[in-house]
Amino acid sequence: MELINDVYTAGGVSLTEVANNFGTPVYVYHADKIIAQYKRLKNAFKPLDIQIKYACKALNNSAILSLLQREGSGLDTVSINEALLGIKAGFKPDDIIFTPNCVGIDEIKQAVELGLHINIDNISILEQFGAIYGNSVPCCIRLNPHIMAGGNTKISTGHIDSKFGISIYQLRHVLRVVKSHNMRINGLHMHTGSDILDPGVFLQGAEILFDAAKDFPDLTFIDFGSGFKVAYKEGDVTTDIEELGQLLGNRFKEFCNEYGRELELWFEPGKFIVSEAGYFLVKANVIKQTTATVFVGVDSGLNHLIRPMLYDSYHEIINISNPNGKQRIYTVVGNICETDTFGWDRKLSEVHEGDVLCFKNAGAYGITMASNYNARTRPAEVLIYQQQAHLIRKRETLNDLIQNEVPITFS
Ligand SMILES: *Cc1c(COP(=O)(O)O)cnc(C)c1O
Repeated sequence: MELINDVYTAGGVSLTEVANNFGTPVYVYHADKIIAQYKRLKNAFKPLDIQIKYACKALNNSAILSLLQREGSGLDTVSINEALLGIKAGFKPDDIIFTPNCVGIDEIKQAVELGLHINIDNISILEQFGAIYGNSVPCCIRLNPHIMAGGNTKISTGHIDSKFGISIYQLRHVLRVVKSHNMRINGLHMHTGSDILDPGVFLQGAEILFDAAKDFPDLTFIDFGSGFKVAYKEGDVTTDIEELGQLLGNRFKEFCNEYGRELELWFEPGKFIVSEAGYFLVKANVIKQTTATVFVGVDSGLNHLIRPMLYDSYHEIINISNPNGKQRIYTVVGNICETDTFGWDRKLSEVHEGDVLCFKNAGAYGITMASNYNARTRPAEVLIYQQQAHLIRKRETLNDLIQNEVPITFS
């Protein structure tokens, strides 16, 4: 987002104009920024040709999926419906990895029928998979190296009590299961969770996977998941992708030599690809002064953007209707009958009722985590592509809220 002649724009399009034309609340994504992030990650590992499996739980609008498919991305999916959305958007099943957690064997079977790469994250399913498919269908194993990533256990998936992955300490037993069913393990996977600050953490995890790889002769890829941290506010420490690319890229080449064969290196970024490309525009409904606080109440809430309430995550807020106003302190809250505070004590350019506020970093885990709480409809989505704003999802209507209800006649 840039301020050009007192107008906040993204990709050459005025964001206040988007709010006027499509209404608020509205999610807006900038296609160029998504593509730039994709390319930045690819380039960081050159000369290695890594494969990016975009984690579509971050943002799964079909337009975004198609955009990334055209760039050559693959897809990381955690449910059969995500995979079906991907296939509809043009991904080949072979480009899609299915990395669910705690699903039943029936959903895994559906994924096999679709031809997806299967990633198994517990020994029970591994045994069932082996009993059904033997060596006729390969699968990947999700290992938990118990690397502590970031500080927040709500978004950290590598710790000892995590429900994700098969503990690296159970490797001997995994090998017994694989051997007894004559299984073909074509990949090893880890995803240590979001917000990794240190390329050293990745390398530690990598060493554990490289070590485990020696026991699996049929590998074709190693998948390092994601966890790349992006900046939410000025001064935030982010994952140094270029440093990671060089360190891990070099180590990976060495590892392939030791292994005796070239393997593919995969990543599954979600946030890194789409977070900064997204803006969430809302309208200031009321300014409410209490004894201690000046609240701005907006036409949205935790039903549309739950990250601040769920993860205490920080989203920068800008009053795009008043770029040069006096800076004043506000607490920005939603209109839901819950405490849904978007940000305490934020310095905003003086807010008037009717102004449009913009939340930054709204591309990842915004609309995909939205709900209909309080019988409110979910926002529209707009994609800025080639200097134009395109509607890519209509705002919901009352009918969307009731269409699956089945009426009953009371006597
Ligand atoms: C959520 C998830 C990702 C993406 O994580 P980000 O922090 O958005 O990059 C990747 N892989 C798996 C298995 C996931 O569950």
